[in-house]
Amino acid sequence: MAGLYIHIPFCRSKCAYCDFYSTPRTQTMERYVDALLRELDFRKYEIKDAISTIYLGGGTPSMLPAGLLEQLMTGLHRLIDFQKLSEVTIEANPEDIDSKSISRFVSLGINRISIGIQSFDSQLLSTIGRAHSADSAIAALEALSASGINFNADLIYGLPGQTSDKAVADLEKLLRFNPPHVSAYLLSYEPGTRLHARLQKGLLREASEAEAEQHYLAVSRRLADEGFSHYEISNFAHPGYEAIHNSSYWDFTPYLGLGAAAHSFDGKVRRFNPASIVKYLKAIESGTAAYIVDDESVENRFNDYIICSLRTAKGFSTAKARNMFGPELLSQFMANLAGLPGDAVQIAADDHDNLRIVIPESNWLTSDAVMRELIL
Ligand code: SF4
Repeated sequence: MAGLYIHIPFCRSKCAYCDFYSTPRTQTMERYVDALLRELDFRKYEIKDAISTIYLGGGTPSMLPAGLLEQLMTGLHRLIDFQKLSEVTIEANPEDIDSKSISRFVSLGINRISIGIQSFDSQLLSTIGRAHSADSAIAALEALSASGINFNADLIYGLPGQTSDKAVADLEKLLRFNPPHVSAYLLSYEPGTRLHARLQKGLLREASEAEAEQHYLAVSRRLADEGFSHYEISNFAHPGYEAIHNSSYWDFTPYLGLGAAAHSFDGKVRRFNPASIVKYLKAIESGTAAYIVDDESVENRFNDYIICSLRTAKGFSTAKARNMFGPELLSQFMANLAGLPGDAVQIAADDHDNLRIVIPESNWLTSDAVMRELIL
């Protein structure tokens, strides 16, 4: 199986912590949707397996006007016969979600909505530069919960001035709406963002490692009490509601990424589109591919697999690593593994040829030291 990722880079304003590629140039939306379909037409042959997931990410895909989203979804189905499609997700901000927009998404084949809530604390929302209010987050969650659609809600913890009690209070508010899936991220201060600049000037205090860990454990425990499985460092789901598309990134399943700043992985090679809508449109409209091929070494790719897989409950698979990277690199990895203290990882044989290596969940947030010992 494979995935299709479509980057919709438009945002109304820039959140203070965000380093994703986004642009307020909404006047190019029509050209952009045409370009996405054109890109799919000439790149669809890169992916050999049947596509089982579509993910409209951003940016803010939910702000695409109704007609353009319909044109996009109809165009995708005209170009690809999606016989095995099981999950179609759209990322949304609260101001775009109500019963009408949810019905419109469903009528276009979208069966999962991922909504950026981040916090219900107005002051914290303003500190991180979110455009929505706590009230609009609550109204959107009420609509999602009433509609019965599968949805995910994003929260951020480790916010400036947030205590672990406040982080859990945000979670409690969210749990009232019975989300099938929750993503809880530790705030990171990425260079180039407004939040990072304010940190550098001493205007904010970053949560210490101990505080971040306290929030992480408090949120994880509360979600476990509610029956969520913690299947990736930042992701929690009720059984059967794990995100299929995002899981494919951690599992190294091939995916085709379309649009400005989108990445693709065909099972061997990664391709990167430019993080510029101007460069992207120029290339696609002149009939050329926009991407550059990443010339990373097999060792680097193997290291990526180590890092991604060890942040999940499924863990690292020796059979998968052998198939993808060959027995020699796997032997080096196993030699590194043998040098770790006994309690750093758990190892289980799940069939004759496969070992699953897992870092205990309570150590995921502080697993960098283990990763450093394991990478090649
Ligand atoms: S809405 Fe999302 S993509 Fe847009 S600026 Fe905010 S965090 Fe970034």
